[in-house]
Amino acid sequence: MPNTSHAYDALMDITARPKTVFVRGEGAWLWDDTGKRYLDFIQGWAVNCLGHAPAIVADAVAAQARLLITPSPAYYNDASLKLAKALVDVSAFDQLFFANSGAEANEGAIKLARKYGALHRNGGFEIITFEGGFHGRTLATMSASGKKAFEPLFEPKVPGFRKARLNDLASVEALINQNTVAVMLEPIQGEAGVWPATDQFLRDLRALTKEHGLLLIVDEIQTGMGRTGKLFHYEHAEIEPDIMTLGKGIGGGVPLAALLATERAACFEHGDQGGTFNGNPLMCAAGLAVLEEVSKPAFLKSAGDAGLLLESELQKLSARHGLGEVRGRGLLLALDLKLPIGPAIVAQAFEAGVLLNAPQPDALRFMPALNVAREEIALMIESLDAILTKTGAARRVA
Ligand code: PLP
Repeated sequence: MPNTSHAYDALMDITARPKTVFVRGEGAWLWDDTGKRYLDFIQGWAVNCLGHAPAIVADAVAAQARLLITPSPAYYNDASLKLAKALVDVSAFDQLFFANSGAEANEGAIKLARKYGALHRNGGFEIITFEGGFHGRTLATMSASGKKAFEPLFEPKVPGFRKARLNDLASVEALINQNTVAVMLEPIQGEAGVWPATDQFLRDLRALTKEHGLLLIVDEIQTGMGRTGKLFHYEHAEIEPDIMTLGKGIGGGVPLAALLATERAACFEHGDQGGTFNGNPLMCAAGLAVLEEVSKPAFLKSAGDAGLLLESELQKLSARHGLGEVRGRGLLLALDLKLPIGPAIVAQAFEAGVLLNAPQPDALRFMPALNVAREEIALMIESLDAILTKTGAARRVA
């Protein structure tokens, strides 16, 4: 085996990252190849809903690997049938298509909406999305995203996405025309810095889309699977969307995603959608193990309670250091720093053995495992408190 410390150049250089090499994970903790331990409040980018290497996922994958890894997408397999049934049973949807990443699930949602437009909306193909939104890194999902940094990239983009403003119903209404087929949004804009749609906005959007015969697509790739204290975020607003995409937490760390739709919206015909690894039993076995755990009312209650604790601790921290608001819901929270000091804080936290994320220069995002312990929240707050104290002192000296 080559020595990994000399292998960095074998990977395409697609993002800035520390040279640290991670080799092991357990629950809230990660270890690098020098044995240094890190308290992880990123968890694979809101992916590891049960923490690192949870036994139930490891056992399910190991057992499935010995039984059947993939029979071909041209055949049914029992793990994918079981998971599909379980997901439609716990959600507002009737059918689903498994994907391997969030972007692929969203790409499928966009195709499904266009198909619906062809069948039911005289060829309508435009989808209203939102400024600041993030839906993935395929060409269509980058085009659907409202991320400023994407604007100059990979032109020409896929046409047919018009951007409204979050929590501004009139901005959506103004974009509806005879070509419109759907409205698509993240209930909380995660990558933009954790900006929630209000429950009222989601309800108004549902009413507006119904009134115009449009599909409502919720991208719950970050907010789904218990992240906000309910299995799916749309439940908070008591609405039923037409299409939902899931990713990240659904596999508890393995690459699994899904595109779910109501019976009327699930209008793909043979030849419209597919993929070699989609719905393979290895990933679906992990998904089943995760769903069984995460959908327990006691698990969701305890994730919700952990979210409330983290929120109140962050509010106290903010008050102590003269920072801004705490945004978000459940265990998807952001602390407004009021100054562009996020990257510096993330770097200091990394040195101190705490993994944090700054989705925007002036905000920190917290997305720990849904089973994060009270003591782990306390430890993270203690470290962040010390870093903020040092940063504040440095700012006063400067
Ligand atoms: N949609 C949302 C809301 C996301 O947060 C992400 C990833 O961060 C994606 C889509 C893309 O998912 P993936 O990176 O698995 O393609």
